[in-house]
Amino acid sequence: MNEQENTPTNFIRNIIDEDLKINKNNGRVVTRFPPEPNGYLHIGHAKSICLNFGIAKDYNGACHLRFDDTNPSKEETEYIDSIKEDVKWLGFDWGENIFYASGYFGQLYDFAVQLIKMDKAFVCSLSADEIRQQRGTLTEPGQESPYRNRSVEENLELFAKMRAGEFGNGAHVLRAKIDMTSGNLNMRDPVIYRIMHADHHRTGGQWCIYPMYDFAHCLSDAIEAITHSICTLEFEDHRPLYDWVLDTLQTEHHPQQIEFARLNLDFTVMSKRKLMQLVNDKLVSGWDDPRMLTVSGLRRRGYTPASIRNFCEQIGVGKRNSRIDMGILENAIRDDLNEIAPRVMGVLDPLKVIIDNYPEDQTEELEAQNHPQNPEMGSRLVPFSRELYIEQTDFMEEPPNKFFRLGPGREVRLRYGYFITCQSFEKDAKSGAITAIHCTYDPATKGGNAPDGRKVKGTIHWVSARHAVKAQIRLYDRLFEVENPEADKEKDFKEFINPHSLEVLDNCQLEPALTAAQPGDSFQFERQGYFCVETKDSTPEALIFNRTVTLRDSWARENKKG
Ligand code: ATP
Ligand code: MG
Repeated sequence: MNEQENTPTNFIRNIIDEDLKINKNNGRVVTRFPPEPNGYLHIGHAKSICLNFGIAKDYNGACHLRFDDTNPSKEETEYIDSIKEDVKWLGFDWGENIFYASGYFGQLYDFAVQLIKMDKAFVCSLSADEIRQQRGTLTEPGQESPYRNRSVEENLELFAKMRAGEFGNGAHVLRAKIDMTSGNLNMRDPVIYRIMHADHHRTGGQWCIYPMYDFAHCLSDAIEAITHSICTLEFEDHRPLYDWVLDTLQTEHHPQQIEFARLNLDFTVMSKRKLMQLVNDKLVSGWDDPRMLTVSGLRRRGYTPASIRNFCEQIGVGKRNSRIDMGILENAIRDDLNEIAPRVMGVLDPLKVIIDNYPEDQTEELEAQNHPQNPEMGSRLVPFSRELYIEQTDFMEEPPNKFFRLGPGREVRLRYGYFITCQSFEKDAKSGAITAIHCTYDPATKGGNAPDGRKVKGTIHWVSARHAVKAQIRLYDRLFEVENPEADKEKDFKEFINPHSLEVLDNCQLEPALTAAQPGDSFQFERQGYFCVETKDSTPEALIFNRTVTLRDSWARENKKG
């Protein structure tokens, strides 16, 4: 199946189209997604996943999942497992093509030896500080290392000893011999290997020298015969080094590095390092806290894979860094859930309604549509009885004219039920809070229409008090109070955390059918928003729902007001 026609094109697809026209790479298209396993994936990674795996799918190519695990001190198996789960969940399949940069440690070592033999790399014995100091600046050239002219034999011997573990951390490094006067700092004899006496999660104690990113990445791409190595813009200045390594070593394959603008979203931070701080400082409950813009957080919040893929498609792929409005992401999930989520009734902040003229021991079952716009989703029966719950906000003691819900003497329609008229209400003498309201119902209005043709302006949702199931509902708001928590360089981004980003409602009353809901199931609570069953904490005895998103963009409305 060729889905290409449905996917909007972008400059990367244009490059691939041109390459295919001239039969470059013999018509092969192979991309890769190369996460460093030092954290959970976030929505920015999702953009890269959709781009790389999307291209592979549309061009009948392959996309490799490659763990960039060259840094032994930071990587953990927990992250590898979560990354695999997230990529699969997003709907992509790497098939056989799962790789680890650490799997190439032997080949990378051989390539380094080859560079030394070509006199294109040398062992440098300056300290990290000295190397930094001698690197120069954008306006000043760097200084050549005093070790730059070591003989090939000496370099080979020292590098072998580095590998054999004869030196401590930092005693020597291997540097490419390029050009200390280059206008591009990445080309000023970059470090390509360092000594690190640390166990690696896959290779254990086999190695005590580890390759640097700029050396390992291009060669891993070449080893895997990647055709298009797509990365974010900050690697643009690294491209000359990428090409230098592959050109110098004359690798069989020379992938083309193409850079695109990373995703930045308003009201959040994106880097794994910062997300990790939120987790470690317990400002969120974990990497999958539903307020986190991680793939696992979005999943737990109730986002669907399709909504995230659609979002990534909508924002497009460009060359200019920009910030994306969070409303676009929220609209993507609204659009998807609007189509697929069954409608139910749930009362978040209950107010008791007593229908005085309804028989005390009577119950009836009213038919309710599961999705009024999609009749094929069927209907269900909702119990109705003398005592109901409605939302506190659907009653006002002294309602203004425009308030079309309940007030003394006013009549409304109960969704899928009867017309009711408010006759009186009970009030707590001390607090002034309304504790219950008394209504009468019109038995002739069953199903929501009056035979005499009289109209009501308001329709409200409800649940039968006796049949309702009690649940906890967690309402989430944006985790940060400001659009760009990283804009003020004087301040720590954590100072801008929104203290009201989580609100827990403990006495919500839901229609009884929801007892059968499974963790992760999504619903539209009519008039309230989209909610899903919490996957970690909810139990059949104590149901917990997360609000995924409100029905409308309340922030857009706020902004219009202001
Ligand atoms: P972070 O800065 O969040 O730690 P990273 O770039 O260090 O991210 P990697 O694990 O190295 O994380 O990233 C894997 C892939 O995902 C890379 O190709 C990277 O370019 C891409 N990627 C990371 N962040 C974004 C983003 N915000 N938008 C698009 N692509 C991204
Ligand atoms: Mg990184």
